Parts: sequence; structure tokens; C-alpha cells
Amino acid sequence: MLECGIAPTFMLDMIGYGVDKIQACLVSHTHTDHACYLKRYTVYGFPIYMSEEASEKAKDLGVKQIKRKKKYQAGGFTFASFGVPHDGTECDGFLIEHAAFGKLLFLTDLEYCPINLSKIGVNHLMVECNYDRQWLVDAPNIDHICKGHMEVETALRLAHTLGDSLEDIGLIHLSAMNGDGNEFKGRFQNEFPNCNIWIAQKGTIYAETEKESIQKNTDN
Ligand SMILES: [Zn+2]
Repeated sequence: MLECGIAPTFMLDMIGYGVDKIQACLVSHTHTDHACYLKRYTVYGFPIYMSEEASEKAKDLGVKQIKRKKKYQAGGFTFASFGVPHDGTECDGFLIEHAAFGKLLFLTDLEYCPINLSKIGVNHLMVECNYDRQWLVDAPNIDHICKGHMEVETALRLAHTLGDSLEDIGLIHLSAMNGDGNEFKGRFQNEFPNCNIWIAQKGTIYAETEKESIQKNTDN
């Protein structure tokens, strides 16, 4: 599970009230849209993992603190976090691995990816594609947007560094005001014709798609 900015009641309903189905919940940082239900999730028994740096304000809430760039295991998953630039707020990206689907890189709320992951062999990318700088002319908080969030061109360049192992790209954390998600998707589709490109929209049940894919791969 990634982040806990969605009400637990919704999530519990999604997983049939089986908290033990969740091996780990990885949280990038404490901004409300990613962590406002953090305390309630820990009360319900969800295993929340955050880096020591990002969880500084949440360490009394039952969060499992992890060291950046160190590998951890939960169930069949291996994961590691690393710090990303988010306009002065401690925030993490995650590299997650599972035998059923390979390697997933999860990056949100960052200006750019500060480490070179070109040799890792990432199969799945979930990346913030927040805005198009041409849309920012009259935007309030323009400085925060540019220092704290990823522009579509930055996301495209990052994806190109990841090489031929990339199978699908999910565009997440899109601004409703500062870009056009469908246009972003088209640009990615043009530059990555062999990848499945999807955009995160409210209510998208990506987990179901992923579960089918995991099931299919496991059968093979
Ligand atoms: Zn944030």
C-alpha cells in the first residue's frame, strides 16, 4: 500500500476488512494529502513504514522508521527509500521489488529524482507528473510548485533514463489547474510506444489491475 491520505474506511472496504492482507504501507512524507490518516491507520494495525527523516513529526504514532537506502522486507516485497527534493520538506521515493512483477519505482512530490537509477532495471514507474510550465503563468504559489513538484518534461526525461526494462508508466499527482492529464499521457505514449501509460484519477482501481497481472505472472 502506498501513502495513507485516503480515509481508512474506504481502504478497509477495498480490502474486505483484512488488514493482514497489507504487508506494508509506505508513506513518502507528512503532508496531509499523503498522510492525514496516518494515526488512524496505525491504530487499525496497518504496518506503516517511513524514513527516519520524513517521519520526524510522526514517530510517536506507531510508524516503523527505516533508514534511507537500506533494503527491508515485508511479505514477498523488498523495498528501499531515498530522499527527494520537495521544497524543504523531507520526502522519500521508494524502489519496491516483488518476484511477481519485478521492480516498481514510486516517486511523488519532488522537483526531480536526485539519484541515477538507470542501471536498476525498473519495470514499472509511478511518477508525479504535476504540471506543464507553460500553464504556470498566473499560478499562485509558483515558487512552491516549481521547487516541490515534478514538471512533465522532467518526468519524461527521467523515464528515458530508466531504459528498455520499463513496461508501464503511471502518471500520478496531477494538478487539476496546471496541466492536462490526457495531453501528458499522449506525450508519454508518443515517446514510449511500447509502454502502457495510465493516469491516476480519483476512483481508479489500479490494485485490481495489478492483482490480475500478479496472478497471471505467478501462473507462468
Ligand atoms: Zn507534499
